[in-house]
Amino acid sequence: MEYGTGAIMAVPAHDERDYAFAKRFELPIKTVIAPAKGEVPEDEAFVPHSDDEVLVDSAQFSAMTSPEAKKAIVVWLESRERGRPAVSFRLRDWLLSRQRYWGCPIPILYCEECGLVPVPEEDLPVLLPEVEEYVPKGRSPLGAAEDWVATTCPKCGGPARRETDTMDTFVDSSWYFLRYCDPRNDGAPFDRGMVDYWLPVNQYIGGIEHAILHLLYARFFTKVMYDLGIVGFQEPFARLFNQGMLHYLGAKMSKSKGNVIAPDEMVERYGAEAVRLYVLYMGPAEDDKEWQDAGIEGMFRFLGRLWRLGLEVVEAGPAEGEPAGPLVRKAHETIAKVSDDIERRFQFNTPIAAVIELVNDTYTAKDDPEQAAAVRFATETAVSLIQPYVPHIAEELWQRLGQEQLWKTSWPEADPALLERETFELVVQVNGRVRGRAEVPAGLADDELIARAKELPRVAAYLDGKEVKNAIVVPGRLVNLVV
Ligand code: ZN
Repeated sequence: MEYGTGAIMAVPAHDERDYAFAKRFELPIKTVIAPAKGEVPEDEAFVPHSDDEVLVDSAQFSAMTSPEAKKAIVVWLESRERGRPAVSFRLRDWLLSRQRYWGCPIPILYCEECGLVPVPEEDLPVLLPEVEEYVPKGRSPLGAAEDWVATTCPKCGGPARRETDTMDTFVDSSWYFLRYCDPRNDGAPFDRGMVDYWLPVNQYIGGIEHAILHLLYARFFTKVMYDLGIVGFQEPFARLFNQGMLHYLGAKMSKSKGNVIAPDEMVERYGAEAVRLYVLYMGPAEDDKEWQDAGIEGMFRFLGRLWRLGLEVVEAGPAEGEPAGPLVRKAHETIAKVSDDIERRFQFNTPIAAVIELVNDTYTAKDDPEQAAAVRFATETAVSLIQPYVPHIAEELWQRLGQEQLWKTSWPEADPALLERETFELVVQVNGRVRGRAEVPAGLADDELIARAKELPRVAAYLDGKEVKNAIVVPGRLVNLVV
């Protein structure tokens, strides 16, 4: 078991599992942390960790915030020679060389006179030789390329032999993105000015399996290169996002299990745009999701409905008057939501739901001549908001609606005057962990906020019918339900 500094304070009152364990075996529970703005809870209550917690009943560390206390406790331990601060990394040694053909040659020569000799810089890179047989047979496949292996020592001019192992692919994957910034450079792997201009990467998107090794090594390489003065930044990736995995028939898709959805077949049947839209609609991009055949049908039908709506608006021709009324307000609310979800929240499923809602409302109003201008405005708004997901359909509709080049048109902007209903995003925690978020009107009373928090489906699932013992409300921000 590993203990971080957090473990110092993880007595049973403040760790979910320890708390449950202590309750089950009737062990004494001692509260040593209180929420900064909250009351010191009653004895034996569970107090989840929070950003602004303070220590209580902790001798000289009482009234310190957790970050202050962590430092002070380490200093105190050190002064008594009972411990010292340390940073733990999970970077492990990794074997660099492999007896494989596919990898970068290691630029080292063996000379009988001089021993190990690095290949001089002007002779880099060492390129792989052409070989007949790629399969290793007790030695590296490069060993068979005699003409390549036998070379001359750059130091003494005598005979030398090349290293026949190649580097593991992790070596390349730790810094290939630097080369991407300067791919045609013949004189060096990359020019520092180029990599400093383009990097670090603003947004890294990758599967969670990359988080452990590739990202760790890429960061390590970058830090070493920074120390060597080769690059001007210490972190290669400014922001990381791990997307979830697709499941089908209750399991991770895999060829051996035979539960694979072939994208080509789906594209053949529904079109690439419906498939793309459905994949993005299935759930938050970071969650694992289950492919549902009915779901793709639903997206296909929605696109049909949007298409028919667009054609009816085209048929009706230009509308008289200024667009106004509830449908226009709805369109502006949708613009605000879609923009915020995509740009700030990195949420791609909820914008689709918002556009579907807008299209449904517009569809209901389409036969009302009074609302013709609003219907046209709402339809055009829906088309431009769905464009990042289904660019071909959106472009085609946009042109039929008498406009040009949607891909060059500015993203729509919500009129703040029409967003009269002031809202905020309520963060809902259960036992101190974020379990849901909801857009709620500003100015609701605490008990109304608590009621809305409990209603969220994900939150309800975590509550699982259990009695809420305490609810902490931070106005305008969050509700923490303690069960
Ligand atoms: Zn030599």
